[in-house]
Amino acid sequence: MSPADAAAEAFIARIPPAAQAAAAAAMHGELLRWLLSWAAVLLICILVARTGILERLQKVEAHGRRPWPRTWPVWGGAAGAVAAFAYAWLPYALASGADKLPPAPDTPASRAVAELVARAGLPADRLRLSAAPGFDADVTGGFGRAFVSLSRGALGAPPAETRAYVAHLAGHWVHHDVLTLALAMAACAFAGGLAVAAWLRPLSRLLAGRDRQPSGLAVLPALAILVSCTIIVSTPVLAGIARWANVRADHYALELTGDPDAYAAMLVRDWNHQAVRPSPLEEALFYSHPPLARRIPRVMAQAR
Ligand SMILES: [Zn+2]
Repeated sequence: MSPADAAAEAFIARIPPAAQAAAAAAMHGELLRWLLSWAAVLLICILVARTGILERLQKVEAHGRRPWPRTWPVWGGAAGAVAAFAYAWLPYALASGADKLPPAPDTPASRAVAELVARAGLPADRLRLSAAPGFDADVTGGFGRAFVSLSRGALGAPPAETRAYVAHLAGHWVHHDVLTLALAMAACAFAGGLAVAAWLRPLSRLLAGRDRQPSGLAVLPALAILVSCTIIVSTPVLAGIARWANVRADHYALELTGDPDAYAAMLVRDWNHQAVRPSPLEEALFYSHPPLARRIPRVMAQAR
């Protein structure tokens, strides 16, 4: 084992084995729930389509209504894309509420962060005190403004660790990572609209098991399956983009602070109780950051 790996293992060993085992078991449970719930959604859609119940229901509906234009899935996908983008990016860019937060009190940690903010060149006028519980900080803002806020837990933590945490968040701000992720979410939503436009009719025919084209309510199961598949496929894509952005933010933060021990200690302190060593499938689906067992060795390796 290299010295860097041994140092990384020592940091990971700060998390008690029982806590690591509990996190791993919880992650297996989450994966099982994810697989079962999507399997149930798809099965229900197929069963509903096979029964033809929706077509019988539709006979009750009034006839002669003007059908929707054939391009409605494309417009629906575009509307979904705009909504996803606004949901993911606007609160961050507008830093809603951050400008009204009170100034952070003067502590060794706030002084270390103020020095870091100046060195990173963030256009933040002052540090703010957030009401978040525990060890927490935030760097938000867009349109050339940055807001840096710290919780009381972060203000009282070892200054080097709080500084490491804010350096990571500054990396996201500098690289416009939230904008990238919001655009990726919008692209996934629009791709879902295109998938519905292309496959709704053939899939609803296939599900009904007939040559005749089901119409009206009878296409709902196929629509639900295509929307579900869009979410299922988007999940690892978006998580992969987030992990890529987080590896880059780690790299940026270490370059800026040059303190790998504080960085690794911060990662252990900030551990979100996700399994330390997940399976590749669990990581692909549920991890926006690399798991600790890979993230900490990478930190130690960059430093040496
Ligand atoms: Zn991050």
